[in-house]
Amino acid sequence: MISPEDEKERLRLLKKLRILDTPIEERFDRITRIVCRSLDVPISAISLIDEKRQWFKSVQGLDVCETPRDIAFCAHAILEGEPFIIPDAQKDPRFVDNPLVTGDPHIRFYAGFPLKLGENLYIGTLCAIDRKPREITEDHIAVLKDLSLMVQSELEAVALSEAHQGLLAELKEVERAALIDPLSRLWNRGGGEKLLDRELGGMKRKNTPISMAILDIDNFKKINDENGQDIGDQVIKHVVRLVLSVLRPYDVVSRWGGDEFLIILPGCEKQDLSDTLERLFKVIRMNPANTSNDLIPVTVSVGACVAFPGSDNTTVLLKLADKALYEAKEKGRDRYVITQANKG
Ligand code: GH3
Ligand code: MG
Repeated sequence: MISPEDEKERLRLLKKLRILDTPIEERFDRITRIVCRSLDVPISAISLIDEKRQWFKSVQGLDVCETPRDIAFCAHAILEGEPFIIPDAQKDPRFVDNPLVTGDPHIRFYAGFPLKLGENLYIGTLCAIDRKPREITEDHIAVLKDLSLMVQSELEAVALSEAHQGLLAELKEVERAALIDPLSRLWNRGGGEKLLDRELGGMKRKNTPISMAILDIDNFKKINDENGQDIGDQVIKHVVRLVLSVLRPYDVVSRWGGDEFLIILPGCEKQDLSDTLERLFKVIRMNPANTSNDLIPVTVSVGACVAFPGSDNTTVLLKLADKALYEAKEKGRDRYVITQANKG
């Protein structure tokens, strides 16, 4: 396997970021979406080169979150601090036999910008990939360069809540991986429960309120029955993307059940919560799911509650949100209901 001279220090810095095996985040997904749109490529990724794998913090156009390091184009791209451009992989002896070229996803064009950390250590790349050969323009190189600098800033920024950082610090990589839902790439219910406990603990310490909401897709069984499970999965991802797009980086979403999500909004009182939910319902109504079959209109129902330091315990709060969700469904779906917890 090819690795840079300073591999040990490089890996140490990468692990210190505590980013491997964490959920997707809008601040990174936004950047890979811009790469796809501005370069008109089907695939873009933020790839981080771990000891034996490349792991995607964000990826568009592929349904995998990692590949072995020894076949990764990005593993080549981190060897030097320069953009790594392959106009046609089939004409490059280093890649002509690569399984990612001979088979799925049939890479022909690759452009990767190394992501620098510290002095001169490269932990991964921001890359653009096409299934057909192409030449890259100076303009596109400039766009990729600027965007890779944005990824670098985001990697170094402290964007997550204190509770979220605390949980990441406590968990080993394998433990983190076990708490991620593979379809949505959000925390699963186990992860959501741990975060909720931590956020509620933080609320007491800091004496600030916290909002929590349970979102459930309306008539999702019907969407599955009429379009098949695969399209149902695409609808779930679509809803996740819209939810993330209206939240702040330090809010948390977890996949609570099949078509149910728990949203935690630290520091949010009733007005902030209803403003956020108004924005969410607006984007959901304006954006039907663009699935491989059809445009499918989706609606959701939300039950939410605002908790205060000294108010009810986690179980009671969850029951309150659940009851509010039930009420939203009863009233005809496509709406939210907010209840206030006991102030204690
Ligand atoms: P309501 O409006 O009351 O929420 O009705 P609903 O049809 O959305 O709710 P219900 O609980 O009856 O159905 C949820 C469905 O979600 C049933 C289950 O097969 C489906 N489901 C659960 N997990 C997944 C998944 O990962 N992918 C897909 N495609 N479907 C899933
Ligand atoms: Mg449902």
